Amino acid sequence: MAVRVRMAPSPTGEPHIGNIRTAVFNWLFARQMGGQFILRIEDTDRTRYQPETVGVIMDGLRWLGLNWDEGPGLEELQRLGLENAEEYAVGGPYGPYIQSGRLAMYQEVGEELLERGWAYRCNCTPERLAQVRERQRASKQLVMYDRHCRDLPPDAISPDEPHVIRLKVPLTGKTVVPDGIKGDVSFKNAGIDDQILLKSDGFPTYHLAVVVDDHHMKITHIARGDDWIPSTPKRILIYRALEWEPPIYCHVPLVNGPDGRKLGKRHGATSITEFRRQGYLPEALFNFLALLGWSPGEGEEQEIFSREELIERFDLFRVNRAPAAFSYKKLDWMNGVYVRSLSEKELLERLLPFWQEAGMVPDPCPQETLATLRQIVPLVQERLKRLEDVVEWTAFLFREVETPPAEKLVGKKMTPQESLVALRRMRSVLAEAEPFEPEALEPPMRALAEELELKAGQLFGIARWAMTGQKVAPPLFGSLAIMGRETALARLDAAEAALDPKGPKNP
Ligand code: GLU
Ligand code: ZN
Repeated sequence: MAVRVRMAPSPTGEPHIGNIRTAVFNWLFARQMGGQFILRIEDTDRTRYQPETVGVIMDGLRWLGLNWDEGPGLEELQRLGLENAEEYAVGGPYGPYIQSGRLAMYQEVGEELLERGWAYRCNCTPERLAQVRERQRASKQLVMYDRHCRDLPPDAISPDEPHVIRLKVPLTGKTVVPDGIKGDVSFKNAGIDDQILLKSDGFPTYHLAVVVDDHHMKITHIARGDDWIPSTPKRILIYRALEWEPPIYCHVPLVNGPDGRKLGKRHGATSITEFRRQGYLPEALFNFLALLGWSPGEGEEQEIFSREELIERFDLFRVNRAPAAFSYKKLDWMNGVYVRSLSEKELLERLLPFWQEAGMVPDPCPQETLATLRQIVPLVQERLKRLEDVVEWTAFLFREVETPPAEKLVGKKMTPQESLVALRRMRSVLAEAEPFEPEALEPPMRALAEELELKAGQLFGIARWAMTGQKVAPPLFGSLAIMGRETALARLDAAEAALDPKGPKNP
């Protein structure tokens, strides 16, 4: 059997990282089995529909390297008004791949369910339904449709009047959902709602559309978040009603925040766009997501896996049954590992857009700026975790620096007077060192610390504040070399003036 899996996002907002992780699982499984990964856009919820997010979703998938083998074609994407539709158009033999283009199919299946006695028309008014719900709530009953129209004579509701079509769920017995991860999950039919399948506007509900599409697109496995489990028995019943073979479900436990609560905004970034903007490398995020709820096995310490290794080793059926905890700390660590594994040239290419976005480097980047950036890259590579941090770290190399307030210029465990002396001495050392390069700057500065009976850290701390205007910066002497002697001395002069009790010198 050729494996066919899908990602079926609803374009109702930025794609949540939890859904992207499920997409990673599906993609890995498809690649491993030599199967197909299909992208289907589920846009039947018209009230929450945000057309522009279709492009955002596709862009995110592409960026992460989750290429799809079938998906919306050119005309479909143009119909949505998507800019650069050509870039994303893939098409395939089972289209359309956007649900709003498939309405006729759903209606046809709705009719068939009616004929088979597995569905019925319902023209209950919203007011009546609200009353029913209220009554049920008041008497602490299960809140569900009261089946009012279920046993009306077949012609009681004319197809021409406004109505919905509901699933006729058996009143007794159980529906079992076999699950590749969780094992059998069983539901009492009496507790399953007579779900609406087709709405009065002719749009299907999600439940019907998904079954029709998964069937027609020959989907074999469905890995998705386990928050969808409650809807699965309804689907199994629709498959049974139509005598179709259901796919194999694999419900993947959700992703929680580090505190064990549902991953949300208060924890940090949650959409793929945000992670991208903060400067996580796609290969690091991919690695991280693949290990979010899956691990290669007991006692296995390895955490860094190439894409190929993951394709080979991932095991969909051995995904953890407990929710995964999203550790931002681990992601930062992993990103740092990937950052260090890049060549300086590659890292420069990845960093350039961040500097440009921040307005620190022009676009296109002139040759001489490029030469400076080439010097900066090795300075930041060791410690950089998120690429966006480079902007703050290196701002002092591109912009005027505000002279820090006097208290920042006072060294650890030093008096302002001692710090002032240290600054002045530092100035003469830096004025004379030749060449103005780390090898020639560091030894006399260390010697100065010794002479002043200071720890190197005390002296360098003052130097860092005075010449970079910030507490954290790339290694000091490499930074000074890039800044150049003139700027360094000017900043020392300004710092000295700020620290001098006699006030700023007259210019
Ligand atoms: N459209 C659903 C979503 O937005 C798909 C759920 C499923 O995979 O069945 O996640
Ligand atoms: Zn009704």
